[in-house]
Formats: sequence, C-alpha cells, structure tokens
Amino acid sequence: MNEAIIKEKLQENFLSYLAIPSQSDEKNPNVPSSVGQLLLVQKLEKDLEDLGLVDIAINEFGVLQAKLPANNTTYNIGWVCHLDTVDVGLSDQINPQVIKNYDGKDIVLNEKENIVFSTKENPEILSYMGDDIIVTDGRSVLGADNKAAIANVITALWYLKENPDINHGNIYIAFVPDEEIGLRGVRKIDFEKFPVDFAYTIDCCALGELVYETFNAASGVIKIKGVSAHPMSAKGVLVNPIMIAHDFISMLDRAKMPENTENREGYVWITDIKSDVLNCRIDFNIRNHDKEKFEESKTYLLDAIEILKKRYKSAEIEIDIEDTYANILDSVDENNEVAIENLKDIYQKLEIDPKIIPMRGGTDGSYLSTRGILTPNYFTGAHNFHSNKEFLPMNSFYKSFKVTVELMRGI
Ligand SMILES: [Zn+2]
Repeated sequence: MNEAIIKEKLQENFLSYLAIPSQSDEKNPNVPSSVGQLLLVQKLEKDLEDLGLVDIAINEFGVLQAKLPANNTTYNIGWVCHLDTVDVGLSDQINPQVIKNYDGKDIVLNEKENIVFSTKENPEILSYMGDDIIVTDGRSVLGADNKAAIANVITALWYLKENPDINHGNIYIAFVPDEEIGLRGVRKIDFEKFPVDFAYTIDCCALGELVYETFNAASGVIKIKGVSAHPMSAKGVLVNPIMIAHDFISMLDRAKMPENTENREGYVWITDIKSDVLNCRIDFNIRNHDKEKFEESKTYLLDAIEILKKRYKSAEIEIDIEDTYANILDSVDENNEVAIENLKDIYQKLEIDPKIIPMRGGTDGSYLSTRGILTPNYFTGAHNFHSNKEFLPMNSFYKSFKVTVELMRGI
C-alpha cells in the first residue's frame, strides 16, 4: 500500500481524535475524571468495532479494552494508550493546523493573540523542513500526547485488516483515562482480559526515543501532632509540630533533592507542608531508578522519624509511605526481554537511530511493571509535550506507525 494513503489515514484518524476535547481534571477524584474522555472512548469503541476487533468493552472507569484474535501462533502483545490530555492554555478545544511543506520560518500560531512559534526558541524544528507539520493554535496543547498513539494503533489495526496476509499473534488494546493525573486509569484495566506476554506504550517524544527505564516511585505523608499550650505558660509543655517538621527537613540531604539531581540520581521531594499550632502534615515523593537506593531512601526516612519520636516523646508522629510505580527495567526477564530486543531490531530495520533515555518519571508501563508486564515505551514523533508549542512532523509520526505495524507482525 502506498505511503501517501497511509499517511492520509493516520492524519485523518489523529485529527478526528483531537476534535473531542478530553482533558483530565486533577480536582475530580473519579475515574474517569472528565466527560470528554468518555466521549472519546465511545468513538473509539465504534472504531474498534468497524475494524473487526472482538471482546470490546468499556468498564465503569472508562477503560476500553478489545482484542484482535491471532491468525498465527506468536506472542500476545498489548498496547496501552491514554485518553487524556493536559491543560496548559486558554482553551480545552484543540484547533490543530497542518503546515504543509514547512519552509523553516517562524510559524504564527495565533495571529489574533500574537502567539508565534519561534525557530530561535525551538531550533529542532528546522530539521523537519519540507515535511508536513501539525501545530496548535497556541491556545492548547496539540495532544499528540497521547492521541498520536491512539491514532497510530488504530491505523495499524486498519492496516492489518487491509493486509490479511500479515501474520500476528493476539493483540490486546487498552485505552485508559487519567494518565496525566497520576497514572490512575491504567490501574483500572481488567487484567483478566489482558493476558499479554508484554505490552507497549507510545508515549514519548521525538523520532527514535525509546524508554525502558523509569523511576521507582513512592509517595508519603508524615503527620505530627504536637502539644498546644498558652505561650504564657508554655515552658516545658508546648511541643510545636512546626519545629519537629523543621527538624525532619534538616535531616534530609539537600544534594538529593530534585533541584540538585539529574540523569540516574534519585531524590526525595518535599511537596507540601501544612501546619497549625497542633497538627502538621508533610507530603513527599521518593524517586530512584535504582531499587536498592530507593529502598534505602525509605529506610532513611523511617529512621529519621524514629529519632524524632525519641526526641519529642509527648508528640505523636506517624509516617506512611506507599509505592506508586516501579522501574520498567526491573520487570525484564528471559521470557519477555524479546519485547525490547525486537523493538531495537525494528529500529535498525527502519533505519531509526535509537535514543535510549532513562526517564526521570513514570509511564503507564511503570505501573504495568509492578504487575509483571514489561512495557517499553517508544516515540510518537512529536516535540514539546505539555506545551502550546507541541508539534508533530508527519514523517516521524509515520515512522512511529511503521514501528507499531512491525511489532504487531509476528516475530
Ligand atoms: Zn502521555
């Protein structure tokens, strides 16, 4: 099938998903957190039906799952894409513009509001001269994160339907809400209906990017109850929780905080402190690629709290630490390592330069890793995720699609 037809289909699918606003809403504790995501998932349900998938179902959390039955015996592979986009701008409507045959000049995204995409600030766009590039109107993100992935998977399924001679194993799809607000949706997958050997996400940026190493992550809360007293007669009685919090923070290593770390260096990040004269609450995050160092950080904090309990006997101090996701790399074993090897082979076959990145964050795959499902992450082709300057060059998008088709093809 000719490349132009596929690109047209890919673009058409992408634009049709952008037309349904689906920002997630951090303030809403429900999953899904917004109605837009449900509207999008209903459209996708119909699209999957038209493509001949089976076992299609949307569960109570707005997770859409489906299966394309195998026509050959090979690996069972899953794809997980997220439905939500982030809010960065003035509008929840995404108004994409396709710049044909990009000429290397600044792009006026929005004339009325004088929003310009400057090549000086974003020189990487110059390497896409001559390509068609999809940009925003400056008022929102583009939403290639993660609708380019959804369009990619849907177009690949269409391609398999058009080319029934291509061998593939069982392909399992899960479209999940609320990734951007704490990987909430992926936890709601019906794993009984997702019996994969491994899975993929397509949730990072430029051509060639490849992530199979993420943080281990935990979040925690410390609650301190002091003893209040009138300052007139406070001596020897009053225990100020704010001062205990101060002691706690002074026990932390400033060199191991986000502002002083990079690459594979982990950190403890104090994200919130609230207190009055009696009660104090401290929120924090722990991140580390290295599982052992990650556990050491937790132990260090628990020990610090024990010291404070001894120092302030009449205060009540408690700490609670909860794991939120795990390093993808830790779920690699001899049965699933083919997921990464095959991806690297495909890059080579398609002449894509791999840019392997230890991600200082997590993907849906980092949660899947805790469930034992190895889930590497590859590129959509877009740049500037989470920005109104997000843009997607069509040739990179097409390469991302090619990777998906090759992965679906039986090994
Ligand atoms: Zn994403």
